[in-house]
Amino acid sequence: MSMIEFHGVQKYYGKFHALRDIDLTINKGETVVLIGPSGSGKSTLVRTVNGLEDIQEGKLVVNGHDLSNPKTNINILRKDVGMVFQHFYLYQNKNVLENVMLAPRIVLKLNEEENKKRAAEMLNMVGLVGKEKNMPSQISGGQAQRVAIARSLAMKPKCMLFDEPTSALDPEMIDDVLQVIKKVAEQGDMTSLIVTHEMGFAKEVADRVIFMDDGKILEDTDSKSFFENPQNERAKKFLSKIISH
Ligand code: ADP
Repeated sequence: MSMIEFHGVQKYYGKFHALRDIDLTINKGETVVLIGPSGSGKSTLVRTVNGLEDIQEGKLVVNGHDLSNPKTNINILRKDVGMVFQHFYLYQNKNVLENVMLAPRIVLKLNEEENKKRAAEMLNMVGLVGKEKNMPSQISGGQAQRVAIARSLAMKPKCMLFDEPTSALDPEMIDDVLQVIKKVAEQGDMTSLIVTHEMGFAKEVADRVIFMDDGKILEDTDSKSFFENPQNERAKKFLSKIISH
């Protein structure tokens, strides 16, 4: 069963052709890592999946919602799709627990008791038990990113999108966040699409690796084949540069 389907998708920013002929199917439960040079369209591709960017041609279906149809209700789609960005936008005037409880209360109308239980479960999952009462200014960047992950998970999404979730973090905080993402991605029924420059992590977590350049998918293969035996010349060059760093 597919969770995300791109069929002949074209995306333009004005005249700039940002996504070219994207054909891609991601199945339920898969963990897919998107790799490629800066400016290759990774973030654009991920953002189209929850309707943050519109597409100009082709068809894009996410959990049965057709994003190419203007009548599709994007708010219903977004209940199924969680997103974690490079920068964590926590509500600064609310504590950690409130940050996690807010969307389920307002969007899902979850009762307080259920909501508290769920938030506790999510904060446990991201390793932040004991930080419930802290304000965002009283936690580290890595902890804030983990709150952002817990907040997304509290909506019980079917699919999680991560757009360079560790790029803005201090190096010593990256690993904790990656471990949490791994745990999330490995939940059997979760579909994850992850943009990252952390190659060791990508290798470890990905079922599949998609390599992009110039708005195109140049390689789409299992993780082992990609890292050990990339076929595309640009992918080979990209990997050799990264590995030599
Ligand atoms: P990546 O995530 O691989 O670094 P992006 O998807 O962010 O790449 O960007 C792909 C291309 O689209 C880049 O050339 C970028 O400059 C361009 N782009 C991204 N967002 C916009 C925008 N809002 N308006 C115009 N061009 C954009």
